[in-house]
Amino acid sequence: MSFRLPNRVALITGAGSGIGLESSLLFAQEGANILLCDINLGAAQKAADLIAKRSSNIKAIAFKCDVAKEQDIKNAVDEAVKEFGRLDIMFNNAGIMHPQDDNALNTEERIWDLTMQINLKGVWWGCKYAILAMRNNPTDEAKGLHTGGSIVNTASFVALRGAATPQLAYTASKGGVLAMTRELAMVHAREGIRINSLCPGPLNTPLLMDFLRTDEMKQRRLVHLPMGRFGEAIEQAKAALFLASDDSSYVTGSDFTVDGGLSAAYVTAI
Ligand code: NAD
Repeated sequence: MSFRLPNRVALITGAGSGIGLESSLLFAQEGANILLCDINLGAAQKAADLIAKRSSNIKAIAFKCDVAKEQDIKNAVDEAVKEFGRLDIMFNNAGIMHPQDDNALNTEERIWDLTMQINLKGVWWGCKYAILAMRNNPTDEAKGLHTGGSIVNTASFVALRGAATPQLAYTASKGGVLAMTRELAMVHAREGIRINSLCPGPLNTPLLMDFLRTDEMKQRRLVHLPMGRFGEAIEQAKAALFLASDDSSYVTGSDFTVDGGLSAAYVTAI
């Protein structure tokens, strides 16, 4: 049986829920050892326990990390390298959508700053420490391991399309992720480090479902979705797996969009 991430080491942020959780389970199933990072250590530990139950030859370690703190991210990358000897895949996925994030007139500065700190600065620091670690990866021809690696940064479809249901800080933070990712991809391409953004459409995960408190709020979005449904976290995890694996060996600097056709839509079927 062949695996898509054989002998790889992955660090995933926001690993306790949604996209991060499904990606952790899928990456482990494909042969990767994983450091599961989350501000909610209990949720990350639950995911790590599930991986351990499913496959005894995979190492999954839960690690408390607040991506809003540079030192936490540095510690997480150091921990992955200490435990597993290298870092091949960095999935900067943790993010928030604050319930008080609104339009230009109503969004408070503290909500803007908190959102930027987690969604944008956290991704910068994740890239910074991953790049430093990936440069040091030892080459092992027998195991197919080389210097370099793959970094995947979770952005969002809202960075590509305007929405009349505003969440200004969130949208701006995700636009920053796209722009930063493209530039980093160019700077580090010749070091064998590929860096891509994942742009999910609206998903059936706690992040969005907690934000859309009423059925009316959900319907306001659903009418614009070509497939008539929200996406599932596992559908993003499969795309993240493609970007993390050698299957995407000639893909870097992309805004990899997995949105059920949303960004191609004018009028949807009803
Ligand atoms: P989720 O709420 O299900 O999971 C997010 C995880 O991140 C949680 O386990 C949470 O504890 C963790 N987290 C939150 N703040 C953190 C911090 N400061 N440090 C470390 N971990 C932290 O969310 P999800 O839907 O899986 O979203 C994952 C990513 O996808 C986010 O970046 C989000 O912006 C993006 N995204 C989501 C949607 C959607 O509709 N759900 C759409 C586009 C993009």
